[in-house]
Amino acid sequence: MRRCKFCGDEAYVVMRSPKMALCRVHYREFVERKIERVIHRYKMLKEGDRLLVAVSGGKDALATALALKNLGYEFECLHINLGIGEHSQLSENISREQCEKLGIKLHILNLRELVGAGIGEVRTRRAPCSYCGMTKRYLMNKFAVDNGFNVIATGHNLDDETAFLMGNLLHWNLNYLSRQGPMLSESDKMARRIKPLYELTNEDIENYVRLFDVPYVHERCPYSAGAKSILYGKVLKEVEDKSPGTKLNFVKGFLKNRELFPSEDIVLKECRVCGMPSLGEVCSFCRFWNLNKPLNLKVNIVHDDS
Ligand code: SF4
Ligand code: ZN
Ligand code: ZN
Repeated sequence: MRRCKFCGDEAYVVMRSPKMALCRVHYREFVERKIERVIHRYKMLKEGDRLLVAVSGGKDALATALALKNLGYEFECLHINLGIGEHSQLSENISREQCEKLGIKLHILNLRELVGAGIGEVRTRRAPCSYCGMTKRYLMNKFAVDNGFNVIATGHNLDDETAFLMGNLLHWNLNYLSRQGPMLSESDKMARRIKPLYELTNEDIENYVRLFDVPYVHERCPYSAGAKSILYGKVLKEVEDKSPGTKLNFVKGFLKNRELFPSEDIVLKECRVCGMPSLGEVCSFCRFWNLNKPLNLKVNIVHDDS
């Protein structure tokens, strides 16, 4: 039987990178310390921030909420029901259950109620994922701005980041590369976006949430099949299995050499419909969903300023 490196109790996890075995108590400490270090290293949070955690019902968002709560951060959660049949209903139900168990306030937005259709229900040539990503980012940010949150935490992890990075490098998406990383700074009407799980793999996170008796959605979204990021993830897993630590070195090396991908100075306008930052006269959200007046996502929230 493998024993914990720190206390000699029975090991709960045997890790390959770093190479060590840890019991339940020390594994939880290891993960939460790692998250805390990432938050500090990238200066993700500061005094007075108002934090919103995006929860999807999946393990990554759950781990983000669990760890931030265990580390003593104050925040509220937001779930977006994307209108993808049973999958979305299950995701909403589980998000409610998770937040209730953790004692965290949850806000829910329903895409179909807001714009009249869910993801996959619009006549368009665009693949669901391409407008779903844009839609989620817009709604999260608009909800944050309308309700006085200046930071949004998402559950993107090391596997997601390395798969995006690989895809962006393979296609030389310089624009995306210049914006990729653990944090996107805030600006006018744009909340700061942070990824506290930036240095944790899927496996690390699965082992972490297993420590707590909180359910999560295991099934993938039906539109995820065939996504290129899944293929890149498989390739990277193979490399990581043969050479543990490669994924972390990949993102760390990228961040060190980020100046190779300078961001363009883009002057954003105000969307004529919703007033949010936009590249064109009308933002991609209002254009895609054919809006002629802004969504009002304001809910009754009392922020504690003490
Ligand atoms: Fe949206 Fe695509 Fe993710 Fe499904 S897989 S939630 S459609 S981005
Ligand atoms: Zn131990
Ligand atoms: Zn708009």
